[in-house]
Formats: sequence, structure tokens, C-alpha cells
Amino acid sequence: MHGFRGVGASPGIAIGRVFVHVPPSLAVSDATVPAALRQAEVESFLQGRQKALVGFESLIDKVRAEKGDDLAGVFEGHAEILMDEELGEAIVGRIRDDGQSALAAVRDAMEAQRAEFLALDDEYLRQRADDLSDIGRRLMLAIAGVEEVRLEDLPKGSIVVAQDLGPSDTARLDRDRVAGFVVAAGGRTSHVAIMARTLELPAVVGCADIFDVATSGQVIALDGGDGRVMVDPDAEALADFECRRAAHATAMEAMRALSPLPATTGDGHRAFLGVNIGTPADAEAALPWNPDGVGLYRTEFLFMNRTGLPSEEEQYRAYAAVVRAMKGRPVVIRTLDVGGDKPVDGLGFTREDNPFLGWRGARLFLYGSDGAIPNRDPEVKQQMEAQLSAVLRAAVDGNVWLMYPMISSVEEVDVLRQQQDDVRARLAAAGRQVGQIRTGIMIETPGAALVADKLAEKVDFFSIGSNDLTQYTLAADRGNGRIAPVYQPFHPGVWRLIAGVIKAARRRAIPVGLCGELAGIEEAALPLLGLGLDEYSMAAPTLPRIKRIIRAATMPEAEAIARAILDAPTAAAALAMAGDAMRAVLGRVQ
Ligand code: PEP
Ligand code: MG
Repeated sequence: MHGFRGVGASPGIAIGRVFVHVPPSLAVSDATVPAALRQAEVESFLQGRQKALVGFESLIDKVRAEKGDDLAGVFEGHAEILMDEELGEAIVGRIRDDGQSALAAVRDAMEAQRAEFLALDDEYLRQRADDLSDIGRRLMLAIAGVEEVRLEDLPKGSIVVAQDLGPSDTARLDRDRVAGFVVAAGGRTSHVAIMARTLELPAVVGCADIFDVATSGQVIALDGGDGRVMVDPDAEALADFECRRAAHATAMEAMRALSPLPATTGDGHRAFLGVNIGTPADAEAALPWNPDGVGLYRTEFLFMNRTGLPSEEEQYRAYAAVVRAMKGRPVVIRTLDVGGDKPVDGLGFTREDNPFLGWRGARLFLYGSDGAIPNRDPEVKQQMEAQLSAVLRAAVDGNVWLMYPMISSVEEVDVLRQQQDDVRARLAAAGRQVGQIRTGIMIETPGAALVADKLAEKVDFFSIGSNDLTQYTLAADRGNGRIAPVYQPFHPGVWRLIAGVIKAARRRAIPVGLCGELAGIEEAALPLLGLGLDEYSMAAPTLPRIKRIIRAATMPEAEAIARAILDAPTAAAALAMAGDAMRAVLGRVQ
């Protein structure tokens, strides 16, 4: 028995037999082709390309029939790249002018293109770079007349073990025959990982040492959630995997049945369930949960763990990728929310005695170190303009809602909106295309919550940041374990503020969401609904749990528990009441 730990790339448990996938190797000669033979090399490239195109066309038909238009569209894109005129000319030029063989010319032309994509340092284009390797490999096999390994007809229950798998490999895998895969290369955002999630096949990637022991035919078990892989498991380990497989299957069955359904109560009230994301890959991974949109896109992840700041272009590409992935569903993009516990390189952060009460969130754009409002520091101003421009441009492709964090007063909103109007006017003057957006704020300070009626006149929507609202209401640092008992999201004081915010939003008929962790806490689902919350935003896998509760309830039930919570003497009492109410409604449907 040999255990490994890779990166869980696609949840689920698979038990089966190893199928080691080794792609056919190709010997590529780098000798110069004599001038007289170069035309024949060009011909062999053109014939090979035609053959590869036929292969792509049958793959597209197969994928369209089995996996739908979206995935088929990916391979239509590949076929387009294959037939791209410029690429073809570059390859022919390498053969005619440089005397490269057809195989060497394809390899090098594809590699040059790939290097260009990789140099752009962009998640989305990095994935396209992987596509290029895959297209190049298929083209080279076609030129060399080498048959591909037939991944279509593997023995039933195979677990494919490979150094890496290209998109066309993963698309050819037959779901009825392949139980999962383990790949030595890649991370959670690698193409193979994204494809595994799309195909809903359990997968572990980044399992570098797997080839040390795995050979075809051995029994293998994997957990695509925690990344555990066991080759040749003993009876006890096998029983454990089997147990987990059964539990996962039952849970998934129930969850899957819920994904196409709306979060509508028994008496017809519709709530909206969005997801919290930090990267475009998170948005892709959330799609199978069928969210109503992105309720919180934390853009700060683009700014962290790096030196220097992302350019407008880099930001635009990330935001546009998310907006496109959501296909018209709302995407709430939050402006840079750093400071407090999240400093970044650049922007002139200095040590503060109370960073959570200091220069954080939208305050970066608002307050200069010299007392100027708005902040005129060139680096911050440039970043603010780059971010707003990127968001306004990304809005051309979908439904964008822009949101400012850490707001304390009406004046702040006035200043921010003025800045935003200036950026929009500048882009328009420069002839840049910008989209329509809605502008909103996070309510995460008690001051903002208490003047929510006034703030509601200034913005298009609210989203309650319950993580910070709890910390500021109870004066309890959300990251300080010592005073964790003080940090009580169910404290009736926090709920009274939430109730006031929702009421103010409803009076003004603007939508109000909640995107802190409270939105994903099952006991909170009913009271939030009863208070009139329009939208909950949470980590994607939590979504069906909250949906299940909302669908089991009626509005009068939700309103009753909301009233009870507001009147509870303590957080413990509020939580207990909410738990009882939740179990009561769920008990009816189980
Ligand atoms: C919040 O404060 O509730 C919130 C969603 O923002 P963050 O957790 O990013 O501070
Ligand atoms: Mg916050």
C-alpha cells in the first residue's frame, strides 16, 4: 500500500484500476531540410493539418452530443487556432526559409506562440497556452501519422494516471469508463483541474511521485476533495474509501437535484443566492452550483503576494473573464479592500496602531496622508483610476455592479461617486467603450448601518459585510482568538443593525444582500429571509445547503423567527431559537 497527497482538484471519491496514460512519443529531427525537399515538407504539414482538422471535427460532434454546446465550443476554438492563417504562414515560413522539418516547424511555432501567452502572466491566457500545446501535439501526431492512444475505450472503472492531460484528452474520456484521474503535473487552477470539475470526475493533480509506484492494473483509490491517493490499498483503507464514496454520492445526489432549482420558499418568495469569489478560476468552479450571480468578487487577491501592483489591463482581463463566465448574471466587483489584516506591497502603507480602525477599504481612495480628500497620492490615484477603468470596461461584456467597502458616511459616498464619474468621463473622452453599471456600498460599520436610510438615497444597492459589522459592533477583532467568545455573529445587537439596514433598503426599493460568512451559516438563513434580505452570497459549495432551507420554509415562518431573534436576550439564545426553527422546517421535507 502506498499513500500520496496531491492537490484535490475535483471533489468526489473514486476507486478503480490504474490506467497509465503515456502519450505516443515523437522523434523530431532538427537537421536542416535540403531546399529541394522543402515543398514536400510543406505538403506534409498541410495534409497533416487537414487530418487534424477532421479529428477535431469528429471530437466536436462527439463532445456536442455527450457534453453540450459549451464544451464543444472550446474545441471549435481549437479548430480555429489550428487553421489560423497567421500561424500557418509562420509554420510554412519556418519550413521554406529556415529549412525546418514540418514537425520541428510546428513544435517551434507553437512554442513561440505559447511563450507569448505565458509572458502575459494572466490566468485566462495561461490556460489558452495549455490549449496551444494540445493543438500542437495533435497536429504533430497527424503529420507523423502516429495514432493517438484511444482514451475512448478504456476498461470500465479505469483511473487514468498521467504526467499531464490536455483538454482534448480529458474531453475524450468516457465518463462511463473512467472513474477519475491522477495527474503528476498541475495545480488547482490548471486546465486539467478545471476540466475535471466541468466533467464532474474526481481528480487529484500535482501528485508528482505517483509514477514511482503506479502501474496499469493496480487498484487505486482517490479523494478529489482532500487530494489523498492510495495505490494498492489494504482492506481497511479500501473500506474507508468505500464508506466515504457512499456518503459523498448521497450528499451529491441531494445537492445536484437542487442546483437547477431557484431558492424559492414554499409560498413563492424568491431569494437570490450568489457566490463569493477571489479569482476567475473561482467563478468557473462555482458554475456547477448554478449561482444567481457573484455576490462578492474580492479583487484584492490580484494585489496580494506579489511585488508591484496589477496594471489596468491585467485587472480588466480578470474582471472580464468573471463577467463573461457569469453570462449576464450580476457580478458584484468590490474595489480594493486592503489594509487592516491585509496589507499589500506599494500604495504607501505605514504602521498603524489600530489597523482595523485605520486606513483600509475605500478609505485608501478617500484620505491622503496630507489630509487631502480625496487622496491625491499619485500611486493610489493611479490605482483607483486603473481599477475603476477596468471595471467600467469589463461591464461591456455583462452585468456589473461596483461596490465600495468600509463606508462610514454619506460624504464618503459623494466623493467616491464623483471620482467614478470623472473616470467614466475620461474614458468616454478617450473613445474607450464602457458599460453601464450599478454602484453600491458595503454596510460594515455600525455608523453606516445607523444612517442606512440616508445612504440608500445615494446608491443602487447595499451588501452587508457581516464579518466586519460584527467586529465593529462588538468591538472584537475578528482574528483575535482570545476574545472569540465576544465575536458573536448571532448577537442580537448585530441583528438589530442588519434589520435596520434591510428596512432602509426596502423603503427606498434598492436591493440588499449579505456577503459575510453569516450568509452561509445554516441557522441564519431563515431569520435573514424573514427580515427581507434579497440576496445571500457565500462560498459556492455552501449554496445548496442554504437553498434547501429556504425552499423548505414559508415567509410567515421566516418572519416569526426573525422577530424572535431581534428580541432574544443573548447570542446563544438567538442561535438556539434559529437552530430550532431551521430543524423544524427541514424536518418537514426529510
Ligand atoms: C465582510 O466584512 O463581511 C466582508 C464580506 O468583507 P471581508 O470579509 O472581505 O472583510
Ligand atoms: Mg469586510
